[in-house]
Amino acid sequence: MKIEVANRLKKLPPYLFVEIDKAKRKALAEKRDVIDLGIGDPDIPTPKHILKSLHKASLNPKTHKYALDAGLPALKQEIAKWYKKRFNVKLDPDKEILPLIGSKEGIAHIPLGFINKGNYTLVPDPCYPPYKTGTIFAGGIPIIMPLLKENDFLPDLKDIKKSVLKRTNLMFLNYPNNPTSAVCTKSFFKEAIKFAEKNNIIICHDAAYTELCFDGYKPPSFLEVHGAKQIGIEFHSFSKTFNMTGWRLGFACGNSEIIKALAKVKSNIDSGVFTAIQHAGVEAMKSISKTLPGIIAIYQKRRNVLIDSLNSAGWEIKKPKATFYVWAPVMKGYNSASLAKIILEKADVVVTPGNGFGSTGEGYIRMALTVDHSRLKEAAKRIKHILG
Ligand code: PLP
Repeated sequence: MKIEVANRLKKLPPYLFVEIDKAKRKALAEKRDVIDLGIGDPDIPTPKHILKSLHKASLNPKTHKYALDAGLPALKQEIAKWYKKRFNVKLDPDKEILPLIGSKEGIAHIPLGFINKGNYTLVPDPCYPPYKTGTIFAGGIPIIMPLLKENDFLPDLKDIKKSVLKRTNLMFLNYPNNPTSAVCTKSFFKEAIKFAEKNNIIICHDAAYTELCFDGYKPPSFLEVHGAKQIGIEFHSFSKTFNMTGWRLGFACGNSEIIKALAKVKSNIDSGVFTAIQHAGVEAMKSISKTLPGIIAIYQKRRNVLIDSLNSAGWEIKKPKATFYVWAPVMKGYNSASLAKIILEKADVVVTPGNGFGSTGEGYIRMALTVDHSRLKEAAKRIKHILG
């Protein structure tokens, strides 16, 4: 029998990391001392007190049953408390907060709630890939909003054609941004809300990196801005904030009708987050002010070690105010892929070519600060050596 996959799988954008993955596997097979700055997956373990709370909760047989689709009330209450304290935004824990199996899950599923066949979703480019793939799975078409350096990596909303807007139901935004590490102000959110209201578009703001911020800077929540809750929701993740990528815990919050639709989609697909993990999420939220400063200090030091060293060799890279990504312009004579290739082949350092996140990412590479500072120092030394 010929196995034929559905058109929606065939429509997915090409996977552009094939070459770099192949070269990485080869380097590892040759037992070379590879430093991997490719993946945004923290190397630091989850804090012990969060592990302990998972252990304790897992011993209670009540947590072994199907979780409630709508999420653990205690977790939603703790999230609401944190939101009020951190952003001064009031959320109704019952109607305006929904735990997710990692924020990726909610991001990938939200188009199923709002995209009909042929509808458009506005997505930043370069971007976290599920904005595009979730739209395609729902039968929609992603329309890119280029993030350009000259616009501080913000989309130019005035540039979007009227004919596009007629068929657009959703827009994804993401600040602090992956992969560009750009941040935005509340005034940009204000402009986006006005635009969305006028054109009847739901905004999904991906806030996965709001807590990983440096030099005293505190990124705003989209929901802080007047009118946001009328037209949108925000996605948060426990993954990067608490080094919990493998646990799969995130949440969506904001407009109750949008949350309700997402909950309906999810209740037909999954059966919620393991209750013991949600209890650990309560502990993570309760202790955030104690845990976070240490985590931020580690990434800030790493950021400085890598960028100071590369800048000293004449490579002009801006220090990000948030996220654990460094978005570096490629130098003359290279493109994203060729620079990533030479850095891996000659320096045994894995970096991600920017065009893998969308065509507008061409001309950049992304380095993740997910190895310790001594390895970053070594990576920078090797890169400087090959770049002369
Ligand atoms: N949003 C952005 C911008 C990300 O970079 C990531 C992960 O890399 C996620 C969401 C997904 O995080 P989670 O682990 O909560 O699914």
